[in-house]
Amino acid sequence: MRAEIIATGTELLSGTLDTNSIFISEELMLIGIETAFKTVVGDNGKDMEEALRIALGRVDVVIVTGGLGPTEDDVTREAVSAVLKKQLVPDGEALKSIRAFFIRRGREYIQANDKQALMPEGALLISNSVGVAPGFLIDYKACTLAVLPGVPREMKTMFTEVLASMLEDRFGGKIFIRRRILRTCGIFESMVNRAIEDLLKRGQPVIGLSAKETGVDIRIIARATSADRVKTMIDETEAEIRSRLGILVYGVDGIEMEETVGDLLTARGLKVAVAESCTAGLISRRLTNVAGSSAYFERSAITYSNISKHEMLGVPLELIERFGAVSAEVVAVMAKGIQSAAHVDLGLAVTGIAGPDGGSDAKPVGLVYLALATTQDVKTEEHRLLGGREQIRLRASQMALDMVRRHLLKA
Ligand code: AMP
Ligand code: MG
Repeated sequence: MRAEIIATGTELLSGTLDTNSIFISEELMLIGIETAFKTVVGDNGKDMEEALRIALGRVDVVIVTGGLGPTEDDVTREAVSAVLKKQLVPDGEALKSIRAFFIRRGREYIQANDKQALMPEGALLISNSVGVAPGFLIDYKACTLAVLPGVPREMKTMFTEVLASMLEDRFGGKIFIRRRILRTCGIFESMVNRAIEDLLKRGQPVIGLSAKETGVDIRIIARATSADRVKTMIDETEAEIRSRLGILVYGVDGIEMEETVGDLLTARGLKVAVAESCTAGLISRRLTNVAGSSAYFERSAITYSNISKHEMLGVPLELIERFGAVSAEVVAVMAKGIQSAAHVDLGLAVTGIAGPDGGSDAKPVGLVYLALATTQDVKTEEHRLLGGREQIRLRASQMALDMVRRHLLKA
């Protein structure tokens, strides 16, 4: 099975990134449908008709996103109608849900929205639970055409809630493809490569590496003719990689470091407080991105200046003068200071030089000190991070959270 994705919208031809096609091609892969072509076309009826004609002539499945709104430049349904030679007729269910959408929000109904209930004769409705415009699916000769709105959140919801199972019913089951991502922190891509070189060469399951700001992701993709077989292949490969990389793997698929740390803190019944200098709240923000984090996140102090480190965390000014604000000596007292001020189990602190200015030979940009204080002791780490200011701050936050994770796994 081969698919073509047509992303519509003039903005996609100049500036806006077509992220919908990335999402759709990954989802199609999981159903066993290979994306053969991606096309981007502006809000121009004739161009869209041409793109549709070409696509319908060369693949089994065509997925279109965008141009389903009520305004003049939304011409997707007219283009589909012209190419398929099917009249546009209002869909009763769609009309009801569009009107209900406005009533729920207490908005005045504008008649122009009725247009969004129009569908080519014989099309199946793809309902939209998070927005106004519904989509539709229609067969044309040997080809299946699905049309979804362009707003990424609506498109994704409709794809996973409705369209995925429609496509699975038609095309799924012959070949099963599953993907799993193992997320690592604190190891370079070249080192991961060396650790699993033989697995990378083996070919099945296919393993790929991608270096992110926050660590190296290891992608495992397995194909087989039974669902059980792909799952076994993925599970076995994951176990093999974990046996080699150990605690360097911090999560699976979309799991972020802060979620893993949150789970560990919850499981151990521990609380953390944070003192941040160069990350200025990023670690705290990440920890509290996780729902339920109030169970383990107590407080944080953003102590950017020397005087704030002294006043809020009790760091002696002589210590800062002697070793510098970016030093193992100072970060240790920062961690101890926030831990005892907050009366919690763990105090995490970070200080560093995010750049682009402020570095020296002895203390270059990217030098970051971390400390983790418990009620008994305090440990420090020195890191030399690469990148611009934002990258250094993000990487510092990742290494700091990872320090907590590694501590909790050993504790
Ligand atoms: P539309 O459904 O064409 O009115 O699109 C609504 C909005 O969704 C556009 O203004 C874009 O910001 C966004 N959008 C549309 N298509 C895409 C796409 N392929 N990738 C990412 N964003 C998109
Ligand atoms: Mg548009």
